[in-house]
Parts: sequence; C-alpha cells; structure tokens
Amino acid sequence: MPALLPVADARAAVLAEAAGPLPAERVPLDKGLGRVLAVSAVSSEDVPGWDNSAMDGYAVRAGDTTGASADAPRTLRLAGESRAGTPADATLGAGEAFGVSTGAVVPDGADAVVRAEDTTRSDGEVSISVEVEPGRDIRRAGEDIRSGDEVLGAGSVLGSAEIGVLASIGIAEPECARRPTVAIVATGDELLAPSEPMRAGGVRNSNAFTLPALARLAGAEVVSVERCPDDVQATRDAAARATQADVAVFCGGVSVGDHDHVKEAFAAAGAEERFWGVALRPGKPTWFGTHERGLAFGLPGNPVSAVVTFILFVRPALRALQGASSDLDTVEAMLAGDVPRMERRDQAVRCGLSATDQGWLATPTGPQGSHVLTSMLGADALLVVEAGTEPAPAGSKVRAELLRVPSGIE
Ligand code: AMP
Ligand code: MG
Repeated sequence: MPALLPVADARAAVLAEAAGPLPAERVPLDKGLGRVLAVSAVSSEDVPGWDNSAMDGYAVRAGDTTGASADAPRTLRLAGESRAGTPADATLGAGEAFGVSTGAVVPDGADAVVRAEDTTRSDGEVSISVEVEPGRDIRRAGEDIRSGDEVLGAGSVLGSAEIGVLASIGIAEPECARRPTVAIVATGDELLAPSEPMRAGGVRNSNAFTLPALARLAGAEVVSVERCPDDVQATRDAAARATQADVAVFCGGVSVGDHDHVKEAFAAAGAEERFWGVALRPGKPTWFGTHERGLAFGLPGNPVSAVVTFILFVRPALRALQGASSDLDTVEAMLAGDVPRMERRDQAVRCGLSATDQGWLATPTGPQGSHVLTSMLGADALLVVEAGTEPAPAGSKVRAELLRVPSGIE
C-alpha cells in the first residue's frame, strides 16, 4: 500500500471529482422529499395573497368601535359577509360590520377585525364590546412572502417545510438535480444472505443492507445490489456492470489479501485510481477512482469500516452530485471526556450526542472494533478525532458526522 493519505486530503480528492450537480429534472412535489433544488425558488405571488382576517369575527371600521366596552357596547348593522374563498361583493360603509371567517379577505372599506368572542349578534345587528385600533387582527398581503422574493436557494434539500413552502407559492414541480445512481457490490466467498442457512465459515452479508440504506438516506437511487465471489473474472464482470452507474461502490476485497481483486477489476473496467490507503481507523484500505461515467469506491469489508468510509467519503460525493453541501451532515461537538489518539491515523469514533448549553456534547459509545456492528446501534454521529500524540482533551471541539440525517428517503 502506498503512503496513507490524510482523511481531509482524501475527502478533498473525492469532492474534486464530484464537482457540480447532475442535470436537473422536474420533480412533482409529492415525490420531492429529500431532493435538492437545482435552481432557486422565486415566488411569483404574494403570500398571503390578500389582506385577510386572522380571526373569526366581524370586519369593521376601527373608528366605529371608539369607546366600546362591555358596559357600553357599540351596535353596528350586519351588512354582509366575507367567507374563506368567497370575498364580500360590497364595500363596508360607516356603521356597518361584515361577518368574516379566518383567512377570508378583509372587505374594502374595513380596516380592523373584531373577534367573535367580543361581540353579541342579534337580528341583523352586532354589538361590539371592545375598542379596536386600525389593523387589529388583519394579516397583510405579502406579510410572509413578497412576489419576487427568493424563498429557497439552489442546493436546498427539500424537507417537509420546504415542500410546504413551495406548495404555498404555487410551484408544483420544482427543478431538482437528478438523483445519482449507485450500484453496490459486496464481495466475498463467505457471504450469506440473511435468508440462507448458516454454514461453516459463513458471514452474513450485512453490508448489502447497510450500504444501500446509507445511499438512499443521502438521496441516491440504488440501481443494483450484487454479491460477488472472490474470483477475478466475476469481480471484473461486476465492476463492468457497476461502473454503468454514476457511483459504483464495492465493499471487501480491496486490501492486500491474495483474494482481493477489486482494484484490479476496477482498472479492467476503465477506472483510474485517485487514491488507495487513507490514514484512518477504521477504513485504511479505502480505494477511490474515477471512470468515464462517474466515481468508483472500494470500501473495506468490515461492517463498521464500510459504514465509516461510506459516511466520510461516499456520502459527501452523493451530496455534491446533487448540488447540496455536506455541511448539513455535520455538526461541531465537544468531547465529554479525553479520547486517546493515534499518532499517524485519524480515528472515526462512534458517539452519542446530547444537547447542552455549550452545544453538542459527544460521548463515545464503547467498544470500537471494526467488526462490532452493534456498536453503531446507539451512535448518533462519528467523531473524526485527528491524529496526534496526546489524547484529545475533554472539552475540545471536533467535527461530528451525523448518522441520523433524515433526508433523501425515497
Ligand atoms: P475484506 O475487506 O474483504 O478483507 O473483509 C474484511 C472482513 O469483513 C471479513 O471478516 C469479511 O468477512 C467481512 N465482510 C466483508 N464483506 C462483508 C459484508 N458484505 N457483510 C458483512 N461482513 C463482510
Ligand atoms: Mg473479502
């Protein structure tokens, strides 16, 4: 293995190749969850569209309520109604009140709303028992959004709030970057599907489930998940198929063992190596290359190593291919206790995060062996603890890669 590349350099090398989003396509809003806007969303409407009532009650001229109180109510003539969706067709005159519903257009001539609770109604008249000032309980046109406002920038990831706001400004099919296609290949003669009977030396193919889940959470479209034996020709064939996708992700078979064929198979498929070997634990033998149609990753097979390297290298690439920043996947956190460091390798430490007055507090989850997949269960984030001779002291700030980013789900 050549000299190990620092994690930050490896990540930069990946992002350099994943520069620029994939072409845009129109996406119906109800399919938009987790998609990334390719262009900013500009409103061509005011929201709300009209001055409207914030309450159920009566539209009035504020001046007609001067001096009104429970003891000395003012009586106005009930002369019309404005309902939600059906504005009044007349102008309100002096001494008049129009019934209004919440959200209904404030009629011309009115400048305030009296809440129903502050009135009594009888025979074509309304008694008003409070004085209101002009503007009371009126929501102004354009108060939320003005026509011409940029509401969301390009690169915004659509969550429920973003989708709701797009709907509110009449954008039915926002332009979003195409989702990157991902082909996943798990290599290893020992691998068994969860449904297969266990046999001597068998290992359950858990990566074939964690990696597609991680890819989907990062907004990708998983087009295939294959299992491949440790055989040169089979690995070459799998690499030829996988490199049809925007991103090919192999796991296992990328180290220095006699039966590790992934690097050679990627080369045979026309992929060019960018790096192999990262100063990281776990995840040292990570391989990255590019091919005509996209990116190729060879991740180590150990289940935790595969997750760690996916989070650190593949996820940022998937975000970048959609035009989104990977910042949304990270927070700065503070170490709850001292964390031993490795002299030459950064460590990805699984941790829980808790909110404190000083920000996120990170507590490692316990045993960190790269084969202990259950150590991921209680983890909220991966801490990237940089190489060094002294332990990283409690209270120091580290970058935490969130493991539970709820975006991009199909
Ligand atoms: P490798 O990177 O191929 O040397 O594999 C390293 C370790 O990870 C071995 O113990 C493999 O059995 C295990 N492993 C490889 N691929 C998978 C997989 N898809 N699911 C679960 N464990 C795996
Ligand atoms: Mg293997």
